[in-house]
Amino acid sequence: MNLADARTALARARRVAVLTGAGISAESGIPTFRDAQTGHWARFKPEDLASPDAYFRDPELVWDWYAGRYRDVMAAMPNAGHNLLAQMEQEKGDGFFLATQNVDGLHARAGSKRLVELHGNLTTARCEVCHRVEDLPAPQDFTPPPTCATCGGRMRPNIVWFGEFLPEAALEAAADAFAAADVALIIGTSGVVYPAAGLAFETLDRGGTVIEINPTETDLTPRLSFSVRETAARGLELLLGA
Ligand code: NAD
Ligand code: ZN
Repeated sequence: MNLADARTALARARRVAVLTGAGISAESGIPTFRDAQTGHWARFKPEDLASPDAYFRDPELVWDWYAGRYRDVMAAMPNAGHNLLAQMEQEKGDGFFLATQNVDGLHARAGSKRLVELHGNLTTARCEVCHRVEDLPAPQDFTPPPTCATCGGRMRPNIVWFGEFLPEAALEAAADAFAAADVALIIGTSGVVYPAAGLAFETLDRGGTVIEINPTETDLTPRLSFSVRETAARGLELLLGA
């Protein structure tokens, strides 16, 4: 398959399923985990902060990190990649589905609606006692940790941490959408980690086309129908003829 074939397949597809990872937000200035942490945080690896153990040991430290990431994403804007996916949803309607591993909330801010956030998001918190989910206050009004409006309990970041399970309903919806897809797009994700690989094979195993957009080759590349070796925004522009 070449770029022209990939464009035709995408244009003709009635069902399109998309998976995005940290790479699609790189052009909004949000670092991927492979980019080094900066300043004070350079002493920590994300794996040592994004875990139930880390939170149990030092909730204040973990909340400070998330509060900083929350400020950073609220100061960032969705980029052309997020916007083109929101536009594709308008065009494909019911046949469109977007699953993201990102926690930055940028797809929702770009207007995507048929969206599942497999790893939660930075813009909400979840009560440790009654599990209620609430939006965080605006960054300038926010001092962590937030407390639950219903029960007064401490709230934790609404993120799926290392060692925790992905939300089952969201994952099932994603698997169904990828199984039914004529064309699936895997954008800005290294593809080594579940569920990226699993979702791509849901589509491939049923004869669908899977197109990757990533400036770098990934472990998935050899198995996929076609790879666009570009950034997310440029790759989507090429595929959509925008
Ligand atoms: P990852 O494993 O998804 O890898 C990032 C991928 O993006 C790499 O394959 C890289 O080649 C690609 N990439 C880099 N720049 C790109 C661009 N401009 N366009 C398209 N692709 C590009 O992500 P990770 O950073 O290792 O993160 C691991 C986990 O943490 C994932 O769940 C990830 O989504 C999450 N995370 C989320 C955010 C966010 O919400 N923005 C940021 C960091 C990490
Ligand atoms: Zn509560």
